[in-house]
Amino acid sequence: MKLLAVFLVFVISGFCAQAQIARQVQTFQTGTGVVKITPIYHASLLIEAGGKNIYIDPAKPANFSGLPPADLILITDIHGDHMDPGSIAAISKSETEIWAPPAVVKTVTTAHPISNGETKTWGEWTIEAIPMYNIQRGPSPGALYHTKGRGNGYVLTYGGRRFYFSGDTENIPEMRALKNIYVAFVCMNLPYTMPPDEAAEAVKAFHPQIVIPYHYRGSDLSVFKNDLQGTGIEVRLLDWYPQAR
Ligand code: ZN
Repeated sequence: MKLLAVFLVFVISGFCAQAQIARQVQTFQTGTGVVKITPIYHASLLIEAGGKNIYIDPAKPANFSGLPPADLILITDIHGDHMDPGSIAAISKSETEIWAPPAVVKTVTTAHPISNGETKTWGEWTIEAIPMYNIQRGPSPGALYHTKGRGNGYVLTYGGRRFYFSGDTENIPEMRALKNIYVAFVCMNLPYTMPPDEAAEAVKAFHPQIVIPYHYRGSDLSVFKNDLQGTGIEVRLLDWYPQAR
């Protein structure tokens, strides 16, 4: 009997360890209340505010266990690390809305199109679609990984605070021209987007209060952090590639 009890404790604690994922939830105060942002994997993240759940780029191999169903899903681009019908289905309920650039709507046909330069409101949120594209990098000479106009970065405003999610981009003028960004989530990885020093240059130009690298697989984040030292911009390094996810 005693052995059985010990065995059960092992089984149950093992199960809990597997089911529980340590999430690095970030909490931000705004004029309308708290915004919680949870990094999930690579470019996949969850934003929670006012009882509503917004996901950006839910995609494999993100683990959504313990996370709430989506009220709104925003997708940035057509590549598999951003647009993943299986992950969309996994976090959706019947009322879930999906917003995406027209190139994504061709595949995710239930999505509402939103294009570069468009601004829409959704509940308490204002959502702006920002260009994201390559200037110089591509799979072959003359080709680009991300062509201008196809994908969207997003600026989401809640309670007067502006949150920027870059999508896959290089150091483009539209990013440099952003104004009054509170928290910026900025990509950096080669060969698809930009190296950390180039990302730091872009961030210096629009000067958010806080910057959080994401979509950074294989990049040396210490370069990014060092480049921004002394600028007054807070750099938060989070783990977007945990083993358990
Ligand atoms: Zn990507």
